[in-house]
Amino acid sequence: FNAGRGAVFTSEGRVELDASIMDGASLGAGAVAGVTTVRNPISLARRVMTHSPHVMLIGSGAERFAAEQGLEQVDPSWFFSVRRWRSLETYLRASKLPIPPRPAALDGSDPIEQLVHDEGKKGTVGAVARDVHGNLAAATSTGGITGKRWGRVGDSAIIGAGTYASNAACAVSATGDGEVFIRAAAAREIASLVEHRGMSIQEAADIVIHQRIAALKGEGGVIVVGRDGSGAWSFNSDGMYRARATSEGGVEVALYKDED
Ligand code: ASP
Repeated sequence: FNAGRGAVFTSEGRVELDASIMDGASLGAGAVAGVTTVRNPISLARRVMTHSPHVMLIGSGAERFAAEQGLEQVDPSWFFSVRRWRSLETYLRASKLPIPPRPAALDGSDPIEQLVHDEGKKGTVGAVARDVHGNLAAATSTGGITGKRWGRVGDSAIIGAGTYASNAACAVSATGDGEVFIRAAAAREIASLVEHRGMSIQEAADIVIHQRIAALKGEGGVIVVGRDGSGAWSFNSDGMYRARATSEGGVEVALYKDED
């Protein structure tokens, strides 16, 4: 998937990772953007929430904090995959942008190449959960979008856009066109419709995806869990890899439209 190892490349041939996490009980939140050496960016986002006075850290400062926290760091090439490099070349060629030199680390065997699913430039990973005490949480991790430029940061690193959780409403994690999800404040908007308009999580998710996001010509989807532990998802893309599990043992997995 497009998170951690196997994430997409920037136009300069780098992997820059974004992640965020939110605790619906305390409204505590942590986010990181543009990290290149932290093996599990979502763990760093969590440390930002629990061990720093801040909510969002970027780039080299985020990496320094990761080192101080003793989180595992790897060479940036650890994240690289041949499949994502090919997507970058295709994108840059179509956009008439220069193709950076192919990193030496891409020669040789590529374990990630064996993954046959093709979700194009998408594949952000998100999770939402409710525990036995009724506490909600949401988390999102991504490489962003293929060929991103100039230190671009997407919705996945932004609390209220790609991630939001409040015990008063619901927990939301998004995937899709990050710029549009930021402009729509998508995750918080769903929570607001639930909290202030009394909508069900399904209604709120559908309104934000099929009206707000669609009106801005955006594509993507969300997973949501409600205060009662019920789940919802909504997307306007051809598919969205998704799954849910309940404490009663119910498990559901689906990839494309019309599978619910
Ligand atoms: N939302 C992510 C971003 O814009 C990308 C994705 O979900 O595919 O960074």
